[in-house]
Amino acid sequence: MNIDIMTLFPEYVDMILSESIIGRARNNGRLSIKTYNIRDWSEDKHRRVDDAPYGGGKGMLMAAPPIYRCHEAIKKIRGYAESSKVKTIYMSPKGEKFTQKSASSLANEEGIIILCGHYEGVDERIIEEIVDLEISIGDFVLTGGELPACIVADCVGRLCDGVLSDPECFEKESFSVSDGLLEYPQYTRPYEFHGKTVPEELVSGHHGNIEKWRREKALEITLQRRPDLVKKNPSGN
Ligand code: SAM
Repeated sequence: MNIDIMTLFPEYVDMILSESIIGRARNNGRLSIKTYNIRDWSEDKHRRVDDAPYGGGKGMLMAAPPIYRCHEAIKKIRGYAESSKVKTIYMSPKGEKFTQKSASSLANEEGIIILCGHYEGVDERIIEEIVDLEISIGDFVLTGGELPACIVADCVGRLCDGVLSDPECFEKESFSVSDGLLEYPQYTRPYEFHGKTVPEELVSGHHGNIEKWRREKALEITLQRRPDLVKKNPSGN
């Protein structure tokens, strides 16, 4: 899958997305993640990309033309046609809330192009012109879209074929499509830690009992912490 990120801070984004599982997936060609400095598409001699908002008010806005040119360049670099399955996303506190379900849907695209805002955001016309989807990572305001873009790239990226060694990793975890519940507690060696032992069911070797215990715990934790998830999917299937 291709993930292209338009930002004023490409090194920052690259640094985060070069480590661990996503970094490895980039190195072995499972994921192609590229970052672009929007300033490279500024026609201003000082490489400015922002300006004061019409109507007044505090702060600066990112102007539409450099972002538009950057977006056009990405489509060319990737060889995208009108018919390509590609979504352009603007990271924004005003967007729809990002969930595991949105990540699964985006993982089916051929590529995603992410626009990171900064300052007070971007000129509305660039959203109308190039953006398919505005995504928020939560009801709070950050200084820029770089961390939100990394969150989306990481979450979508790990769902792509071959990025995780075993697809079961995400089939059975919190918010998974299969049951929508939070994950059950997990334990590893040592068997005893600070006087606490591992639940007997997990060391019983009895597959049915282990599954039953995990299912009950998942339901219990979800009911305690996120009852809304159980209401959404009462059967838990
Ligand atoms: N003036 C904007 C508003 O009130 O909605 C906030 C702009 S914010 C300071 C700058 C940029 O950070 C935004 O353009 C967006 O790209 C990013 N950003 C901030 N909070 C975010 C969030 N919760 N989810 C996604 N992106 C966010």
